[in-house]
Amino acid sequence: MGTAFGSFFNVLIYRLPRRQSIIYPGSHCGSCKAEIPFWLNIPILSYLMLGGKCKYCGAKYHWHHLLVELITPLLFIMVYWRYGLYSILFFKYLVLTAFLIPIFFIDLFDKLILHVTTLPLIVLGLVFSLLKGTDVSMFNALISGGFAFGLLMTLAWLYSRIKKSVGLGGGDVMLLTAVTIFFGALNAPYILFVSSVLAVLYFLVFIRKADVQFVFGPFIAITAIFWFMVGEDLLELLIRMIV
Ligand SMILES: [Zn+2]
Repeated sequence: MGTAFGSFFNVLIYRLPRRQSIIYPGSHCGSCKAEIPFWLNIPILSYLMLGGKCKYCGAKYHWHHLLVELITPLLFIMVYWRYGLYSILFFKYLVLTAFLIPIFFIDLFDKLILHVTTLPLIVLGLVFSLLKGTDVSMFNALISGGFAFGLLMTLAWLYSRIKKSVGLGGGDVMLLTAVTIFFGALNAPYILFVSSVLAVLYFLVFIRKADVQFVFGPFIAITAIFWFMVGEDLLELLIRMIV
């Protein structure tokens, strides 16, 4: 199932930023437009069998196709290890992971975080906060989500007024609001902090150019997934080391 979802995420990663329908037409080569028959559309296997190339025109498919088909099932299995199958938290964080994978790659390749990916995530986060056995209550989700949105919008506005350029994009604000709704007031600040540190470090070490547009979404996505896997254990360990 994970590989099938990965295959679907590849469709989203390619088509959503190009404003194309995600249903029609079916899978086709981006280069020669040849339709890909279902027997050549098997996740992972088809990519390896064809050597990552189109059977008809030989155009090379981007490496992310294979990567997404590999990491999606791995991440799904990790969510299962973390929560087991019979917890509402399994479904909650499975849904979050499923959204964060295309968000990560679309921001990485196209420098965009689309509302069509973050708005449903905000709604779903609120729906999960209503369910029994969840970890963040409706009250917590609404207050912390609202607070995060207000604070980040103010920061984005101030930055754009002072620097006359966009520092924190609207997509970043929406994604951080969604993440805050999923994690609540206790954990969301850590995610904001760790993802900011990672992003700044990455920028200082690998980019070091002022004119390169900065992408924040991939760091938020990685940190959020890392946080529900081991974040609380890590905090506990840190506190025990200090106290
Ligand atoms: Zn082709």
